[in-house]
Amino acid sequence: MKTNKPYLLVGQGIAGTVLAHHFLQANIPFEIWDSPKHINSSYAAGGIFNPVTGRKLEKTWKAETLFDYLFPFYQQLEATVGKAFFYPMPLFRPFANAEMRQWLMDRKQEINHDFLVWTEEGVWIKQAGWVDAASLLESSKTYFANLGIFAERTFQEEDTDHFKAVIYCEGFHATQNPIWNKLPFLPAKGELIRFHSNEPSRDHILNKNGFILPLPDGAFKVGATYRWDEFTPFPTASSREELISKLSSMGVSHYELLDTFVGIRPATQDRRPFVGMLTENLGIFNGFGSKGVSLSPYFARSFVQAILGEKELEPEVSIRRYSHLFSV
Ligand SMILES: Cc1cc2nc3c(=O)[nH]c(=O)nc-3n(C[C@H](O)[C@H](O)[C@H](O)COP(=O)(O)OP(=O)(O)OC[C@H]3O[C@@H](n4cnc5c(N)ncnc54)[C@H](O)[C@@H]3O)c2cc1C
Repeated sequence: MKTNKPYLLVGQGIAGTVLAHHFLQANIPFEIWDSPKHINSSYAAGGIFNPVTGRKLEKTWKAETLFDYLFPFYQQLEATVGKAFFYPMPLFRPFANAEMRQWLMDRKQEINHDFLVWTEEGVWIKQAGWVDAASLLESSKTYFANLGIFAERTFQEEDTDHFKAVIYCEGFHATQNPIWNKLPFLPAKGELIRFHSNEPSRDHILNKNGFILPLPDGAFKVGATYRWDEFTPFPTASSREELISKLSSMGVSHYELLDTFVGIRPATQDRRPFVGMLTENLGIFNGFGSKGVSLSPYFARSFVQAILGEKELEPEVSIRRYSHLFSV
């Protein structure tokens, strides 16, 4: 049955925000609600996008496709919302020691060099950078509010009838939602610390068993920790110790610690997002783990194309791969 009711996007983290901008571009009527009472991972994120991963400098999943799309997407979005938040920046991975350097040199033939520039001291990664997620979210919230489509409000099941369909972009909270908690999430709590120092470089992101990110206000961020044993929104002494030791292993000895950020990454067991409509009026856009910044733009476009009937969703991300978990 045709209906003029709008869609509802539940949650304005990176996922809900990026999907909402794609709904606007496609002229799909919607509202977006965000609860101030729930934990939000996006405000804690370093926001880094990096097409290379792991000891063997492998290309990340779908790197070319995702990165070709995310650059123009975020650049155009800055113009739309009138705020700077996209910072392309080289990322440097120093060799940990002479053995590691030799180990990589021995494998140079097997490594894909599309994003790499080798030097004596380490490897530079091109097409990396970071998104200031807090600025993206705040400026988008104002933009949506000015259009009259944003509400600071907690969604409850009774609200469903007012909408054509509800698309849940709840991040970690999906694991507590009876509709979605059957999905194989594997959440990972993380912390990072903002600090002042004169020692790190301001020209690039340093990545050595952690990262140091230069911020526009002159401070830096060091991150990030991973833990799977507890999911409170509070910082822990052990994670703070771990971040301080990362600072020292990245060569920073004089610093002033400023603020700690805590979030819970909505990661999944098969390391692929959960995207799509489960039924005509129930959908999900979640499971972006530690890569919300690089994964969500491309898959928001895919989701919108699927909603408009233009294209099937990629099977690796489609929620259909878990439809057996929902059958009664
Ligand atoms: C320390 C740390 C560092 C990270 N670094 C990076 C990085 O460098 N690069 C990167 O790409 N990613 C990074 N991440 C991961 C990134 O944070 C996530 O991929 C991303 O934030 C997920 O976004 P989301 O919108 O799915 O979830 P969230 O940001 O958690 O947003 C979910 C939103 O839904 C709202 N909500 C939930 N339930 C309801 C309800 N019933 N009604 C209304 N609203 C609701 C919540 O209030 C919240 O605002 C990091 C994460 C952490 C913790």
